[in-house]
Amino acid sequence: MKILLTGGAGYIGSHTAIELKKAGHEIVIGDNFSNSKPDVLEKINQIVGQKIEFHEIDFTNQNDTLKLFEECHFDAVIHFAGLKAVGESCTMPIEYYKNNIDSTLNIVEAMKKYDVNNLVFSSSATVYGIPKKLPLKEGMPTSCTNPYGWTKLMNEQILTDVTRANPKFSVVLLRYFNPIGAHESGLIGEDPNGIPNNLMPYITKVAKGVLPELNVFGNDYPTKDGTGVRDYIHVVDLAKGHVDAIEYAEKHRGVEIFNLGTGVGYSVLDIVNTFSRVNNIKVPYRIAERRDGDVAECYADAGKAREVLNWSATKTLDDMCKDSWNFAKNN
Ligand code: NAD
Ligand code: UDP
Repeated sequence: MKILLTGGAGYIGSHTAIELKKAGHEIVIGDNFSNSKPDVLEKINQIVGQKIEFHEIDFTNQNDTLKLFEECHFDAVIHFAGLKAVGESCTMPIEYYKNNIDSTLNIVEAMKKYDVNNLVFSSSATVYGIPKKLPLKEGMPTSCTNPYGWTKLMNEQILTDVTRANPKFSVVLLRYFNPIGAHESGLIGEDPNGIPNNLMPYITKVAKGVLPELNVFGNDYPTKDGTGVRDYIHVVDLAKGHVDAIEYAEKHRGVEIFNLGTGVGYSVLDIVNTFSRVNNIKVPYRIAERRDGDVAECYADAGKAREVLNWSATKTLDDMCKDSWNFAKNN
């Protein structure tokens, strides 16, 4: 398939580009570099041994989006492009709604006009809101606690409605849990600007000595050691899930939702201790106040993706911690 990767220069998109190439697909990346850098493209080219077609484009621009589809004759789209910082979405809701909703509307409009019928969308476990029951299954109720989450849920609704109205259309909504890790080459990984919000990029900055210590947000949750529990998944496992999802989308019609997680929850201290052990490096930390909006525990029931897509995560927490550090120490 010839597949457009919107946001393909980003963290998850760049790893997915490599796995799609390995699986024999032709890929085209479109990105505006609002949260990535052009040198990622060179790294992808180096890993796949070929120059990947790239277009610098903002998908909130309707004319540019239509023009790209007119030029390129895609068979499918994986739509990663979006703003993703929860805290920032609370202070900049207009920018978040505009970027994350307008881009999707422009893409589905272009898909309709140029008869492109297969789409995979990057959704998030955040759409489950505050979990009432664990593990989380795809059919469980959804809700959100911040504008970022709402953009994901609204996009899921838009894509569901668009698919209902068009019998040729096929959409897979992927609800990611917590991606960490990096490509084994150490060439690409997660490299956020400024002080990271997420746990693993914060840990690697502490390990490098850029930040003095990790703040562990709360040790009084009802979890095994009192710290928050999440379902961390290696980004390469996640990327492979997209290969299965887009191939599934091509063969089916309608909307399907899949959790992409491991089904296993690890605490903040599990991550800190594993990172220290496998990399033989100290991560100083202090216990801090709980962070607003955090839930105690969140992990997936990953059974549907295993049964229907024949996909499951294979990499361990040791792999995730090793690969995160292998990338971070050189970048
Ligand atoms: P990322 O920020 O690294 O990648 C997103 C890419 O999209 C960036 O390269 C950015 O420049 C680009 N982009 C944003 N708006 C654009 C626009 N209007 N036009 C063109 N390009 C645009 O993020 P990521 O971690 O790779 O996440 C990819 C997708 O997965 C996002 O939609 C994100 O919300 C979703 N997601 C991420 C996580 C996570 O923890 N990383 C979890 C759940 C869901
Ligand atoms: N966390 C932490 N310190 C940090 C960042 C995160 O203790 O500097 C905790 C957070 O409270 C949560 C877990 O690490 O329990 C994962 O947080 P992250 O922001 O990476 O992902 P989330 O699941 O919140 O999207």
